[in-house]
Amino acid sequence: MGLRVLLIRPKPHKETIGLQNVMICEPLELEYISSNIEALGHKCVIIDMIPEKRKIPYFLEHLRPDVVGITGYISHVNIMKDYARQVKRFDPTIVTIVGGVHAEVNPGDFASKYIDYIIRANGIRTFIDILNRMEGKETGEPECVYHRDTPAPKKETVFPYLYPDRDKVKRYRHIYYYMFHRNCSLIKTSFGCPYNCKFCFCRQITDDQYFARPLEDIINELKQIRESEIYIVDDDFLVGRERILKFCELLEKNRIHKKYLIYGRADFIAANEDVIRRFKQVGLRAVIVGLESCDSRQLDDYNKRTNVRINEKACAILKKYDVECYGTFILGLDWTGKDFFALYRWIKKLGLVFVNLQPLTPLRGTELYEKYKDRFIIREDEYEKWDLAHLVVKPDRISVRMFYFYTILLYYLITVNPASGWYMIRKYGLHDTLKLSVGAFMVSLQYFRKLIEGR
Ligand code: SF4
Repeated sequence: MGLRVLLIRPKPHKETIGLQNVMICEPLELEYISSNIEALGHKCVIIDMIPEKRKIPYFLEHLRPDVVGITGYISHVNIMKDYARQVKRFDPTIVTIVGGVHAEVNPGDFASKYIDYIIRANGIRTFIDILNRMEGKETGEPECVYHRDTPAPKKETVFPYLYPDRDKVKRYRHIYYYMFHRNCSLIKTSFGCPYNCKFCFCRQITDDQYFARPLEDIINELKQIRESEIYIVDDDFLVGRERILKFCELLEKNRIHKKYLIYGRADFIAANEDVIRRFKQVGLRAVIVGLESCDSRQLDDYNKRTNVRINEKACAILKKYDVECYGTFILGLDWTGKDFFALYRWIKKLGLVFVNLQPLTPLRGTELYEKYKDRFIIREDEYEKWDLAHLVVKPDRISVRMFYFYTILLYYLITVNPASGWYMIRKYGLHDTLKLSVGAFMVSLQYFRKLIEGR
């Protein structure tokens, strides 16, 4: 008869400086779990607590699940534990499972009497393993769940699963967007990244392995997606020019007319202008590029394997083909006002309008963690503040307050000025510009609070 499964995507804590003000994306990982377990006869409901007004007990009362699965990132750890507590208080016999990228890399953070299983690897298969054991189809402990003192399991390098069940979040779909990409759908075509930047958490998730799904499979999945805006959530989609060119060819051959937002490295863009031109013809709309710094020495320190010249060339190419560049930058902990203004001048010179400024955040699991862990000013269990926007390490040369001051100033100088506003209105229309401005304003209020608190 199958089990009743409730899957929950958490709402961020009010302390978390909120990207949800400028983007809310569908919970792809839960949609994958849903399609793959329903194919085995289970019944699944997904609730997205970001737009939901109703509380967890309401859903428990109405759905009476046998199993509750919760996913999230580092900033959700306390919320996920709290949801599990609410579930067990409602009915201790409901099995609680947590997963997600943070659970895979730092499973011990979820140790709690309210959580039955912490998925440590291979989420979909492990979730199925747990359900099989609950039904008595298999015995013993599922292979990839967390137990203290047991070695980390081996991660899969294939992805033999059914497509995500996007209809499961149909009632929320109208609110999903990424900046100006309204109603965008997510797709994942590869796992991991072949590079090894020191600050990066992504590569820990796949144990430094990189593998990609076959392109024909991706084209089939794209054909089934109704939305025309597609956000390819690969850590780096621009790996291998032949693969991208083949992808463009298949899009054309299959008459797939959609717009794409991707992650890509500056060195690929700089060295493959023809690929960007070709991709633009079949729908490339924007690239999130980890530019990180306007100082080549810093890029070397991060092991980014790019330099300032490459970054500039990449931005120029994107501009030439009218592909939006969303530049992400790391704000150095040894910076003074001079460095913030140097970055501002460089961004201005490149003509970037959309930037994401993150203070260097040595997440546990990355190479930088050991170096900085003695200087943390945010406790590690204050997970909601580990959002890549809070300053978690004491800066070397300026106060925390000044660091937040310069961050806000940089955002205002780059994005909130008449020229940038006019650019957005012309390109994306008044409605979307206003919507984004409201979101950005909400984020800036959170930053202002930090500025006043000075910690
Ligand atoms: S920062 Fe980007 S390029 Fe570097 S390892 Fe992470 S995903 Fe790869």
